[in-house]
Amino acid sequence: MERTLAPVQATAPVAPRTGRAHFYPDVADAQWNDWKWQFRHRITKLEELEKFLPIPAGERALRADVLRDFRMGITPYYLSLVDADDPADPILRQVAPIAEEYLFRDVGEEDPLGEERYSPVPGITHRYPDRVLMVISNSCAIYCRYCTRKRIMYEDAVPDVEIDRMVDYIAKTPRVRDVIVSGGDPLTYGTKKLESILSKLRAIPHLEIIRIGSRVPVSLPQRIDDELCAMLAQYHPLWINVHFNHPRELTPDAAAACDKLSRAGIPLNNQSVLLKGVNDDVPTMRALCTGLMKMRVRPYYLYQCDQIRGAEHFRTPVAKGIEVIEGLRGHISGLAVPTFVIDAPGGGGKVPVMPQYLLQHDTKNQRVVLRNFQDRLFVYHEPTGRARSVGERSGELDVDATPPITAETTATNGNGASKAASHAGAPAKNGNGKSASTRSNGSAAARVGADGKPVVGKSRWVHRGHSREERVRKANET
Ligand code: SF4
Repeated sequence: MERTLAPVQATAPVAPRTGRAHFYPDVADAQWNDWKWQFRHRITKLEELEKFLPIPAGERALRADVLRDFRMGITPYYLSLVDADDPADPILRQVAPIAEEYLFRDVGEEDPLGEERYSPVPGITHRYPDRVLMVISNSCAIYCRYCTRKRIMYEDAVPDVEIDRMVDYIAKTPRVRDVIVSGGDPLTYGTKKLESILSKLRAIPHLEIIRIGSRVPVSLPQRIDDELCAMLAQYHPLWINVHFNHPRELTPDAAAACDKLSRAGIPLNNQSVLLKGVNDDVPTMRALCTGLMKMRVRPYYLYQCDQIRGAEHFRTPVAKGIEVIEGLRGHISGLAVPTFVIDAPGGGGKVPVMPQYLLQHDTKNQRVVLRNFQDRLFVYHEPTGRARSVGERSGELDVDATPPITAETTATNGNGASKAASHAGAPAKNGNGKSASTRSNGSAAARVGADGKPVVGKSRWVHRGHSREERVRKANET
């Protein structure tokens, strides 16, 4: 008997469960674009969040317990960035309490950076010689679960009298030439209140720079209106540090907010925090940094997550940050590469942590061995004041291992290792940053540098298949 196939049923396309249309289909534009409406309608209770996103059975009590320690706040706009189909959504993870936060509620510290130890008056932290942090607000549009200042987050505004004392301290401390106005989030204040503070600061003759730290362009971009920008533009030189963590936060609304601030003459720098499950991989950070550049926001710092209480599940090994930077440096514009820093516990300040590109510094022979982003090694001679012999030539060590410069050169795999390196036969890095490939290339193209000119070097320095240390050692023997 002849068998026939059942007709294929046409299925309606499934709409993505994200965006304003999914979460707030009935809210009119006038409300949605009103920052005060957004602020008033923040989700602050579990039962409100549950209307949009189910909470797994058995976790409700844990999450409620967590909220007794640290409040929740999610603007409707920020919620609209969440993918309701992804239980590990990186946007939601930043602002919603989860069971891991409960598990780690007693791990970490209240004030991991010792801000209060370096506080001459309440609200001021004076740790570096010429600049101070000034905390003028205890409130934010969203509350990030990993926030370093969880300990001060409650809804009350900082009393005016306290703010006046902070201003007074700066006025009486002539060595302070730079203030970082932070919180909480200063841009959650009304424009008049914020102006009253900025005008007092600007009246201090020795105070050169005012910086504002804000996550509002990320969480409440509607707040960046013309009135605010016109007011801020009167207090130059004024800079704003913003805080984008994930490329999905780079929305048209956020871009419009940043554009308004830029047009008011305000340079924008971004400070991200490296967060497990949010942005701890090279492709995500690359998309974030290049996307920020398109919005004229300079990636400034990538912070190692502080040892804050209840945030252990966000922390990554230090090696992860180094791997991320290694996957950026050389692969995208240097302007787009942030500095990876660890804020030293207890008040040591920011310590930059870099991948190692200077492999050897031979002070006797006045030469250094350098590694580039493709893991190629180069000798550079320092000035000696005398002519160098042929054996002292600068240039590439193992020129035959040089991969051709192709479009792939700019791509990296998930480990931050160069795809071009593995495709073209140059040593690809394994998880330890050691040379792993032994395949030879030796093509003519492999001897051409990024500028199209032959690279300087000697093919007798070919040591593929050896560790980086071994390659340096053998180079020194030649
Ligand atoms: S916006 Fe900034 S200050 Fe506010 S909770 Fe997030 S990280 Fe903390």
